[in-house]
Amino acid sequence: MANTSQSLFERGMKVLVEGVSSASRGPATFGGAPRYMSHGAGARLYDVDGREYIDWMMAFGALPLGHAHPAIVEVVSREILRGSHFATALEVEVEVAEILVGMLPHVDKVRFANTGTEACMAAFRLARGHTGRRKIIKFEGHYHGWADNILLNTNPMPIAALGHPNDPIRICDSSGIPPEAQADTIVCRWNDVEALERVMALHGAQAACVVTEGVMSNMGVIPPAPGYLMRMQELCQQYGALFYLDETVTGFRLAAGGCAELYGLTPDIVTYGKALGGGLPMAMIGGRADVMAGLEWGKVLHFGTHNAGRLALHVTKVMLQTMLADDQAGFRRIKNLGKAMADEVRKVAKHSNRHKIVVQGVNSMFQIFFTDLDEVTDYRDFCGHVDRAKFRDFALRLMDKGIYMNPSATLHSLSSVVHTEADIAATGVAIAQVLEEMP
Ligand code: PMP
Repeated sequence: MANTSQSLFERGMKVLVEGVSSASRGPATFGGAPRYMSHGAGARLYDVDGREYIDWMMAFGALPLGHAHPAIVEVVSREILRGSHFATALEVEVEVAEILVGMLPHVDKVRFANTGTEACMAAFRLARGHTGRRKIIKFEGHYHGWADNILLNTNPMPIAALGHPNDPIRICDSSGIPPEAQADTIVCRWNDVEALERVMALHGAQAACVVTEGVMSNMGVIPPAPGYLMRMQELCQQYGALFYLDETVTGFRLAAGGCAELYGLTPDIVTYGKALGGGLPMAMIGGRADVMAGLEWGKVLHFGTHNAGRLALHVTKVMLQTMLADDQAGFRRIKNLGKAMADEVRKVAKHSNRHKIVVQGVNSMFQIFFTDLDEVTDYRDFCGHVDRAKFRDFALRLMDKGIYMNPSATLHSLSSVVHTEADIAATGVAIAQVLEEMP
């Protein structure tokens, strides 16, 4: 059988670091050559050897409409003829901002960026500028991009390295970051009200913001405990810290209004990315008018040659209009498909008496954990009880059967409007076979 991926990997290793441009696509995640993809259509990806996959990764959530959606192909084909990028003010920029402000009650104004990391960087600076405070409170296992100040306690670690849950050992995730860059970042255990109350009593009055993922999405899928995020919002109000909800993963995916809508929250600052661009690079910072005013010229600086790219904005507009049509039918569809897929895996897993599996999901996102626990409720559960090597073996075997999930258990799977009941059934059959084959 042809293995063009293997030969591309060998060529790529000579000229690209690890053969790729982000570790989650390469040997660090795959244990060897990744599959090199050639094209996508609907819910399908095709590799360079012509193998077909049902894609449950959907570009880490960037594709709520799937691959090569006709409306997106049409708008990009039309707009590219009129120029790729102007770096000027645009009508479509105003139009998309109007749609966003109209659909997100907690957002009075938006500022566009390109990636989640950039949006988060600007949001932290804005929170500090607005409050005049320096500290940032973040949570174990939460990821907010790869900037210096926030890249700590995001990787899974051996449980013995984590320290006491009341005072997590600070673990910087990268070389090249000076300790002083993270000196004002406080790390707290997530999904634990008492831990947060303690940290807020100690640091809340000096905190510019408390930043959280609404659903923990970088350790599989871990939903917030009932009332937890609302309590976080109250504590922020009590101590005068901004409540910053990072919806890079969850925005335009779990509901039209993301986690803010799902859990009834009113964050002061939000960031979005991934799904927002419908497959093109697009991200944004949003929030209350008085907070967002901090980004005015001469106050808190945020620049970018590629901010508000016109092609990406046109795609964002089409994505939003398509998802919102028929009283938000697109959002209902990805939710129902995601839940059905999670149920299918649960059903299949119940028949496997050789592997203990827990499936956790929220609407259109789900993850499969090989774990001895009945529920994974936080980062420490994940670090101590989730078998990541087994998940990788599982995902690689699924790939051989034409089902694509990223082999990292820290990531998750996602539905899009173009998945079907038949895709769910076919995935269920493949999962049953793989569970049978696995040692
Ligand atoms: N915030 C969260 C919650 C994320 O999951 C991510 C990416 N996984 C980011 C920010 C950074 O986004 P990007 O990869 O677009 O820089």
